[in-house]
Amino acid sequence: MPELPEVETTRRGIAPLITNQTVAEIILRTGKLRWPLDPNLAGVLPGQKIHAVKRRAKYLLLQCDSGSLILHLGMSGNLRVVPASTTVGRHDHVDLVFSNGNCLRFNDPRKFGVLLWVSVDPLSHPLLAGLGPEPLGEELTGDYLYRNSRSRKIAVKPFVMDQKLVVGVGNIYASEALFRAGIRPDRPAGKIGRRRYALLAEGIRQVLGEAIAAGGTTINDFRQNDGKPGYFRQQLQVYGRAGESCTACGRLIVCVRLGQRSTYFCPGCQR
Ligand SMILES: [Zn+2]
Repeated sequence: MPELPEVETTRRGIAPLITNQTVAEIILRTGKLRWPLDPNLAGVLPGQKIHAVKRRAKYLLLQCDSGSLILHLGMSGNLRVVPASTTVGRHDHVDLVFSNGNCLRFNDPRKFGVLLWVSVDPLSHPLLAGLGPEPLGEELTGDYLYRNSRSRKIAVKPFVMDQKLVVGVGNIYASEALFRAGIRPDRPAGKIGRRRYALLAEGIRQVLGEAIAAGGTTINDFRQNDGKPGYFRQQLQVYGRAGESCTACGRLIVCVRLGQRSTYFCPGCQR
């Protein structure tokens, strides 16, 4: 599933190619992704210019003249900018065709993606309104995590993966950030002190920043906008490494289930 770094990589890939371009038409080859597609899209979008491509959590926001398109890649979605004449593949469900002859092509084999038009501020849409702060912004600090965790019995890993607390800390990056902070993922959130939360906030920032710089992590089928795989996988220190040696202490990485998610950690480095 594309996580925040993959979505940000996609944003950086497509933004220069579609900003200031004018929509000529939208081609819908399916009636439904996660939800039925709004047939009014074909009436609303032509003639509108894309002014900016922004991101909030894992949503891409295409700011147009009279509103915004909200896009989410779902479980397996992929966006590319290609000449509109490019042969259409099996799961190419939507083309946003521009007057310069290119199109933004939305491929989504599992059809869990989202494509919505809103004429109001997209940040006020119910999908986005309740989200916590961005992990790379100034709001995510050790103090913020400490304050919100007092008296919480939930394990720290599902605690930081809660999108209402902070967005974009998915399963891979939560495991990696906890390793960097030296915190066991099953430690109760309310029992972790201020100093360790400062390390965790820094770990989250570092791991997401490095993953974005590397172009995301390829686990299943994520591809960058240019079709290359992301390279962050080569930098993973615990995720997917059960039974292999810890890069820091040599003990074997273990995998447990926590909140129904595979959770990797080093019993030597994480306490
Ligand atoms: Zn270790």
